[in-house]
Amino acid sequence: MAYINDNFTKIQHRYLFADVAKRVAAYKEQNPDVEIIRLGIGDVTQPLVPAVIEAMHRAVDDCAKAETFHGYGPEQGYKFLIDKIIEHDYKLRGINFDSDEVFISDGAKSDLGNIGDILSVNNLVGVTDPVYPVYVDTNTMAGRQIRYIPCNEQNGFMGDIPNEKLDVMYLCFPNNPTGAVITREGLQRWVDYALSHNTLLMYDSAYEAYITDPEIPHSIYEIPGAKECAIEFRSFSKTAGFTGVRCGYTVIPKELKIKSSDGSFAALNPVWNRRQCTKFNGASYISQRGAEAVYSPEGQRQIKEVIKYYLDNAKIIRSSLQKFGFKTFGGENAPYIWVKTPGNEDSWSFFDRLLHHAQVVTTPGAGFGTSGEGYIRITAFGSHQNSEEAMRRIEKMG
Ligand code: PLP
Repeated sequence: MAYINDNFTKIQHRYLFADVAKRVAAYKEQNPDVEIIRLGIGDVTQPLVPAVIEAMHRAVDDCAKAETFHGYGPEQGYKFLIDKIIEHDYKLRGINFDSDEVFISDGAKSDLGNIGDILSVNNLVGVTDPVYPVYVDTNTMAGRQIRYIPCNEQNGFMGDIPNEKLDVMYLCFPNNPTGAVITREGLQRWVDYALSHNTLLMYDSAYEAYITDPEIPHSIYEIPGAKECAIEFRSFSKTAGFTGVRCGYTVIPKELKIKSSDGSFAALNPVWNRRQCTKFNGASYISQRGAEAVYSPEGQRQIKEVIKYYLDNAKIIRSSLQKFGFKTFGGENAPYIWVKTPGNEDSWSFFDRLLHHAQVVTTPGAGFGTSGEGYIRITAFGSHQNSEEAMRRIEKMG
C-alpha cells in the first residue's frame, strides 16, 4: 500500500499569482481593448547581456565537437565558475573560501527547497513575515513547524530577534517582497542569536546585486561568526537575467556544524555534498559558461547597466508614489517597492482598484503573509516606459 505525504494537504492554498492572474484575466475579458501594465510578477524583462550570450554560444559550439563536448559535469559545478565566484563575490570583500565550499545549482529556489533533505523534521523553523513562500511551503511539505517573525514599519522590516529558541531561521536581504535591507549591526544581531542558540541561518541573498549603499552587507559572511552558523544562497536570476537560463549557487562553510541525534556536532558541508552527488547531476555546462561570463570585465559592466535600468525604474515608481502621498518602502537597494495602501485599505481591494481604475497589475501584500496585509508590492522589472505610464495612470486615478 502506498501512502501519500499528507503534509502536502497542510500547505496553505495561497495560489497568489494564480489568483492575481485570474482577476487580471476576468478584467481583460470584460475590457479586451484596454492595455494592462504588469508590475506584479518578479520576473526580469531585459534580455541577457552580450557577454553572456557570446559565452553560451561558444559553449554550444564546444558541445558540437567530440574533443570539447561536455556531458555530465561535476555535481558541485565546474571549477572555472566556482573560482570566479570565490574571487569576485567573496575574496574582494575579504572573505576566503575553498572551492569545495561552493556548490553550483540550477537556481536558488531548488537549493532553498532541497536543503531540507539534510535537516531533521523536528527542527523548529522561523521565517520572516511577509515571506518568500518557498521557505514556508518546503518546510510544511517536510512536516516541520514554523514560527512567523513579523516584519513591519516599527522594526524596519528586519524582524525582531525572537525570545524563543529557533533551530533554523530563514533571512532574505534585500528582501522579497518588502525591498528592505539589513544593516551590518542588524545582521550581527541575528548571527549572535544563532551562535548562542545553535540556530542554523539560511541566508537568501538573491538580490544582493541591487545593493548600492556601501554600508549594507552583500553577504552574511561579512559578519564575524557567520561561517559557524549560516548557509548562503545566491542566484544569477536577478543579477544577470538567468530566470530562464537557470544558475545559482549555495555556500556551506566547512566550519558549519549542527547537532546529530547522538548529541555530537556534524559538519553540514560533506552531507550536502553527498546529497547533491546522489540527487543532482549538475547545472548545465552552457549555463555555467554563461554565468562565468558575468564575471568578465564586459560582463560586469553590462549587468551593472541592466541593474541600474531596473533601479532607475524603482526610483521612478518610488518618487512618483511618494509625490502622490503614498508611503513607500524599499526600492533603493532592491527591485521591489512595498507600498502602504491608502487609509488601511486591504491589499486585495487596493489591488482591484489599481487594476480596474489604472489598469496596473501589482501583488497584494497579504499574499506573502499576515504582516503583508495593508501593503502591495510593485516590481521594478518592467520597462522605463511602462513604469512611467503606470505612475501617470495612478496619478490620474487620484
Ligand atoms: N529567493 C528569492 C527571495 C526570490 O525572490 C527568488 C526568485 O524570485 C529566488 C530565491 C529564486 O531564484 P532562482 O531563479 O535562482 O531559483
